[in-house]
Amino acid sequence: MRIVVIGAGIVGLASAHFLRAEGVRDIVVVDAASGPGQGTSYANGALLHPSAVEPWNSPGILGYLIRHLGREDAAVLLRARALPSLVFWGLRFLRESSPARFRANAMANTALAMDSMQCLRDMGADAWDFNHTRKGSLTVLRDARALDESANWAATLSQAGVRHRVLDRAGLLAVEPALAPIAGELAGAIHNLDDETGDCHRFCVALAASLASAGVQLRWNTRVERIDADRGRVRGVHLAGGVRIDADEVVLAAGPHSVALAAAVGLRLPIRPAKGYSLTYTLDSDAPGPSHPVIDRALHVALTPLGEGGTRRLRVAGTAEFCGHDLRIAQGRVNHLAGLATRLYPEVLRRPAVEAPRVWAGLRPVCADGRPLIGATRIGGLWLNTGHGHLGWTVGPGSGRLLALQMKQQLPSEVNAEAFSPARFGL
Ligand SMILES: Cc1cc2nc3c(=O)[nH]c(=O)nc-3n(C[C@H](O)[C@H](O)[C@H](O)COP(=O)(O)OP(=O)(O)OC[C@H]3O[C@@H](n4cnc5c(N)ncnc54)[C@H](O)[C@@H]3O)c2cc1C
Repeated sequence: MRIVVIGAGIVGLASAHFLRAEGVRDIVVVDAASGPGQGTSYANGALLHPSAVEPWNSPGILGYLIRHLGREDAAVLLRARALPSLVFWGLRFLRESSPARFRANAMANTALAMDSMQCLRDMGADAWDFNHTRKGSLTVLRDARALDESANWAATLSQAGVRHRVLDRAGLLAVEPALAPIAGELAGAIHNLDDETGDCHRFCVALAASLASAGVQLRWNTRVERIDADRGRVRGVHLAGGVRIDADEVVLAAGPHSVALAAAVGLRLPIRPAKGYSLTYTLDSDAPGPSHPVIDRALHVALTPLGEGGTRRLRVAGTAEFCGHDLRIAQGRVNHLAGLATRLYPEVLRRPAVEAPRVWAGLRPVCADGRPLIGATRIGGLWLNTGHGHLGWTVGPGSGRLLALQMKQQLPSEVNAEAFSPARFGL
């Protein structure tokens, strides 16, 4: 039996890994790019964070969007040209923002994320070089009320096994002394003890190498033009130049590009791209710098240290812009993000040795209810693993295992597969 996986980002590669682990011998992974992890998985925020996998459609999101419409500094920016494509998706997105729906969606994602952390260990990732750390992350809060609210939410997540401790200002500075210059602005933090960090692109490179040595075929510069489906059953994929790969089963894991490939076989995926930016600074190796990832809820920005010594970097990620598949860099958004980073670490980032950051933009594939689509479709042999939005690095390994178990007709024990089933959208 041959399985073709479309997409070698974190999700497609993890799917291939767990299919191989389940004993599938003939797996072909195809990707349009020249190597692994070059799409949205390339320079993301580097956070593996079960503490923060709640969907974006939180209660109150509609008010936020209306208040910030057209503002260039909005954390979530809607561009007018993207609005027509967002109407139906947006209605579903808003429908999921009631407190009960939001909570149910968040808890489903959290269970998947916790399982995903276990998957990292099971994959043998401890032996791979991807700047992995297990120090937890710090969600910093700027006033007592916000700290209380975050502590309450963290207590809710602890029901799913996510561990945390609440830090006052002194406790926060003891964990992260690099925040001392702005201590007066901070009330405290939640120390999310189960969060980890790692460079997703490096992880994908290591995972692809491991797959190749396990006999999985990896084909680069190989764009799938369309999925071949006939009489309700998948037959293979068509590549550019009239070439075809026959397959018994196909896994669609093409991130934000899954929508067009699925549409051609009659499946309308409720996924829209949300552009985000990251800035990667190379830090001055002689001076003290941040040691923990920091998420600032008020500023909507995450700052993650990566690596050590001469290769020490700081990855700054944030912002969401609904502008279709346009990946052009908007300098205003970059300047805004750089300004937020400097507010957190004014002394670290203004040192003369710190040069202009490397700028990157990626498209998060956002599913309308904030839960990825993982499982079978109504087309026989066509499986989805896509729509991971802002969570794909955190839940990607777990999504790979969840899909592989379903394809091998096994019931996953840790995760409720139904919560992620494409059938909830009639797919
Ligand atoms: C700014 C930013 C910060 C983020 N920070 C975090 C974070 O800190 N933690 C976290 O958990 N998540 C984060 N995310 C989200 C995470 O990066 C994504 O959810 C994840 O990378 C999605 O992985 P994927 O494999 O589905 O998609 P991708 O990585 O995009 O992979 C899809 C692959 O499919 C290939 N492809 C597409 N079309 C075709 C075709 N027709 N034929 C063949 N190949 C094709 C592409 O080349 C690509 O390699 C962030 C995202 C952004 C943008």
